[in-house]
Amino acid sequence: QVKRSRHDAGLHHGSSVGLSTHRSTRTNEIVARAIENDRLSLAFQPIVDLTSGEIWAFEALVRYVDPELGPISPPSLVSRAKSLGLMNELTRQVVRNALEAAESFRALAPSIRCITVNLELGQISERELGPFVREAAGAHPDLSLCIELNERSLRSATDQLRRDAEALQSAGIIIALDDYGSDDSVVGSLVHFPMNILKIDKSLISNLDDARQREVVKALQGFSDNLSYTMVVEGIETAAMVEVMRELGTASAQGYYFGRPVSFALTRDRLQRHGTRAVID
Ligand code: C2E
Ligand code: MG
Ligand code: MG
Ligand code: MG
Repeated sequence: QVKRSRHDAGLHHGSSVGLSTHRSTRTNEIVARAIENDRLSLAFQPIVDLTSGEIWAFEALVRYVDPELGPISPPSLVSRAKSLGLMNELTRQVVRNALEAAESFRALAPSIRCITVNLELGQISERELGPFVREAAGAHPDLSLCIELNERSLRSATDQLRRDAEALQSAGIIIALDDYGSDDSVVGSLVHFPMNILKIDKSLISNLDDARQREVVKALQGFSDNLSYTMVVEGIETAAMVEVMRELGTASAQGYYFGRPVSFALTRDRLQRHGTRAVID
């Protein structure tokens, strides 16, 4: 192994290493302050029943816009919160605020009973977070809280995690397997982990001219129907895609065509003006 001299390292990376490290440290400080001061917000995106054409749930997605830096992307927020040891605090705020928002949505549109949030798999086993989620959901008996777990993470799930997920399920929490069908998804995930909702990643419907993609969506819908899972296809952006989904028998969908993730205020406005109607143009 060749050890690089200090001089070499300087030549190759210059001062940009120092600069980006500095920037990243500063961004971490900003994220830490935002979480500690409860300044994160949520965006809400409708989930739609394709048969009835009605919204039946919203996904709550974390947002933070810094006055100086502008928006920080959710994946960046999440990875920074993790390395700062603030992930559970972030999630508590998301769950609490999502449930509160959902109460307001339900007041405007009583058929909306479900709110979904994203969790990192390991969090369901954490001593403080599992009970928190259960209690938070229990405090809202007229709502269903759904937790979305990324399919990729499920592959490393231990028996303990599986049992913890089952316990949450028994307590009435809905479990969604998120991003199924993204690049390297495995069929085993469909078999080994408790779930109620199967969310199909947008990459699986990236080319609906491809007969194989259509057949896979159809097969997954059949699988979901037979086992009473609710399937939701993500990334629906056009009316043409909705048409294909209907032909394939897809039950539910989510995507820019029905609505981008928007603020609490805009979501309320929409419900006030248009009720749960999925398409409003
Ligand atoms: P996700 O859970 O799969 O969320 C869906 C993402 O796809 C959202 O991006 C949404 O804006 C985007 N999307 C929705 N419809 C369409 C569409 O029709 N076309 C396209 N191109 N994109 C669409 P967002 O909000 O940037 O979130 C990205 C990811 O960050 C989420 O993916 C989720 O994994 C993670 N995330 C977001 N909020 C949280 C959170 O509160 N906690 C955790 N742990 N992760 C979160
Ligand atoms: Mg999700
Ligand atoms: Mg997803
Ligand atoms: Mg996705």
